[in-house]
Amino acid sequence: MPRFDRSHTDDLAAYIKASPTPYHACAEAGRRLEAAGFQRLTETEEWPAGGNSDPDAFYVIRDGSIIAWRSVPETATGFRIFGAHTDTPTFKVKPRPDTGSAGWKQIAVEVYGGVPHQTWLDRDLGIAGRLVMRDGTEVLVNADRPLLRIPRLAIHLDRGANEGQKLNAQSQLTPIWGLGQPRDGEFLEFIAAEAGVDAADVFGHDLFTVALDEPAYLGKDQELFAAWRLDNLTSTHAGLAALIAAEDTEQAPVFVSFNYEEIGSMTYSAAQGPFLETVLRRMFGEDYETYARTIAGSSMMSADTGNAIHPNYMEKHEPGHRPIPGAGPMIKVSANQRYASGAEEQALFRRSAEAAGIPWQMYVNRNDIPGGTTIGPISGTQLGILTVDVGLPILSMHSARELCGAEDPGHLAGLALGLFTH
Ligand code: ZN
Repeated sequence: MPRFDRSHTDDLAAYIKASPTPYHACAEAGRRLEAAGFQRLTETEEWPAGGNSDPDAFYVIRDGSIIAWRSVPETATGFRIFGAHTDTPTFKVKPRPDTGSAGWKQIAVEVYGGVPHQTWLDRDLGIAGRLVMRDGTEVLVNADRPLLRIPRLAIHLDRGANEGQKLNAQSQLTPIWGLGQPRDGEFLEFIAAEAGVDAADVFGHDLFTVALDEPAYLGKDQELFAAWRLDNLTSTHAGLAALIAAEDTEQAPVFVSFNYEEIGSMTYSAAQGPFLETVLRRMFGEDYETYARTIAGSSMMSADTGNAIHPNYMEKHEPGHRPIPGAGPMIKVSANQRYASGAEEQALFRRSAEAAGIPWQMYVNRNDIPGGTTIGPISGTQLGILTVDVGLPILSMHSARELCGAEDPGHLAGLALGLFTH
């Protein structure tokens, strides 16, 4: 089995730079899949032999979510699904963005997902997203240079700055982007010009702030890796690399990365919707019996980031389970199924890790700090298949700059390949 070394993390840095939004993450994934011989299918058209014509490989993109697969081999008794998500907490531009006061031009934004406000202050921010045009076509835009900033109040005017000050999301997080009187339409005219389209033809937009700092290795021995969107492009990139490497598997490998995980997965393209189920069913055309048999023999690995033990906040972690960066992906266990990982699932994880020859760790929350959840329990319940939740241990989850072990992205890709091939 191929090993994923430090060059995998270098490639993750390139993937993150190319993927400031879910739409870009899907486009870049599609570009990489096509370079590896995968063919894009359109959901509204007829698929070649139900999207299952041997020996082909396919993908579909819907609204910032992507599913890619290799056709179901003769030997297959089940799918091996590796799932992740493409979105990240950030700020989303409001429908009428141009605002300002006291001689400042500002951009009105909404909070998208669980943003720790402080981390976004005093950073150079770009803007990226998609424009939907009058004729329904979609144009991606990525203005990846310093454009905006959410300025912190000077400490002299804010004596409580180091005492855990709360910021008001409506009034205190509005980015500035220039001087003068705000003019209605100016921001969208600028974005349209960046995208090379006529602003009058832009009928809708999903535009997000982008943390511009370059991904980087940290430390004397460069054991650490810092970037925005480690949650969860690390898993998206791992699943992608593993699927591209997974030739000649006995079971049917599927890679999915959903948009909207950070806001609850309740959209027509997200984990709570029927997108994945519809694609899996179409691989079998009219043959429901074979589909149902295959589902019964299937398993899924839902990969996301998880909390590594923080050296300055040991009391926040379960004392008997202390995952650290560099020691491999974690299996996330929760008796209350915030993570989908019971005994069978744990065995599935360990078989995959053993096949990949990678280190791994166990994660469980403190009983008095329940932690987040992820797509695993949602997708597993929807499809009715065995699902294990795994996590890459990171610090500063949802920060504009997160931190992980430099070798761990490669271990996670190895685990995904282990799932596809063992
Ligand atoms: Zn996540």
